[in-house]
Amino acid sequence: MSKLSPETKKKIKSRTKLVYAGRNPAEQFGFINTPIYRGSTVLFDTVEELRDYKARFNYGTRGTPTTEALEIAWSELAGAATTTLVPSGLAAVALALMTAVKAGDHLLVTDSAYRPTRIFCDTILKRMGVEVEYYDPLLGGEIASLFKPNTSAILTEAPGSQSFEMQDIPAISAAAHARDICVILDNTWATPLFFSPHTHGVDLAIEAGTKYLSGHSDLLLGLVSASATWARRLRSTFDAFAMCAGPEDVYLALRGLRTMELRLKEAERQAFRLALWLQQRPEVREVLHPALPTCPGHDIWKRDFAGSSGLFSVILHPASDAAVAAMLDGLELFGLGYSWGGYESLLVPFDCSDYRTATTWNPGGPALRFQVGLEDLDDLQADLDAGFARLRATA
Ligand SMILES: *Cc1c(COP(=O)(O)O)cnc(C)c1O
Repeated sequence: MSKLSPETKKKIKSRTKLVYAGRNPAEQFGFINTPIYRGSTVLFDTVEELRDYKARFNYGTRGTPTTEALEIAWSELAGAATTTLVPSGLAAVALALMTAVKAGDHLLVTDSAYRPTRIFCDTILKRMGVEVEYYDPLLGGEIASLFKPNTSAILTEAPGSQSFEMQDIPAISAAAHARDICVILDNTWATPLFFSPHTHGVDLAIEAGTKYLSGHSDLLLGLVSASATWARRLRSTFDAFAMCAGPEDVYLALRGLRTMELRLKEAERQAFRLALWLQQRPEVREVLHPALPTCPGHDIWKRDFAGSSGLFSVILHPASDAAVAAMLDGLELFGLGYSWGGYESLLVPFDCSDYRTATTWNPGGPALRFQVGLEDLDDLQADLDAGFARLRATA
């Protein structure tokens, strides 16, 4: 049965890692995959074992062989000391923040954060006495000028949701660690395959497993990974909430993990080609894609990231709401819908102008977010070609 030696384990590249990580056929009668364990009660042999809670598994909320398999695999991939699994990406955001802040603390949040993250900060955290301040995502190391004596955490997201500004995570981490401030990164866009969070100074990394880890739009899952310094605190916060993920979803995520790099690389290839094609379109004013030199923070992306995924945005030249609706309503291949990271292509119109507070969002035309899937690119372009024709034909 396949057993990697510690030397081999250190040497193997991410694609090999994705095949082997978190599997132990010797424990599963030789079967390749860890099955779905369902359960609440775990039986112990003695009173002593029951009392000391040191058994590898001791209660359903704290983990099963299925959840452990994904946690181990993700920690290996992300270079983390530990990983916890929660029922959604937003729950992962909440768990990371609840791990890092307490009443009376000052929390810095990027103005480009995923909008539901802002809502969590502006409602739950404010209600619990945390002072939340938004900052310009392009600040980099100058973020130190915003530090207060009670600053305890910085929430980053690279690139920003919808608007794709790239953040300088190493510079922010260096400034934060000079003051023992916790750096949290929502790494959903890049995944650990394209950005290794903990080797760049991130303390708590969030991944919405709903996106590329799932890859098939059929589950909700969140992951929080921690550096060695934050591992115990993350684990104990997780145990206090018992906010555990469902066994079927974890199993499907393990299945998705094995093909994640292939899917992500294909999404990258397709999305970049589509971004270049869109850049040439007369209807398009600007393409916001971190791999394009025109994107804010592109040099940081080039320095720190190993790739770009299948999600980017486009700003159109000024057009009426009716014209944009005519373009989108008639699309046959691009679906209209939230979330992303699946095998299907999606398009959503968006507008950040009414909720940004530290920066002004004024793109100069309607904004569209593309999620590029695995369809044939010629077919996708034909669908958009017809859409642009509808846009031009509507006043
Ligand atoms: C989708 C998303 C989330 C939340 O994931 P859910 O599983 O849908 O709750 C968090 N962060 C980012 C950047 C996302 O795109």
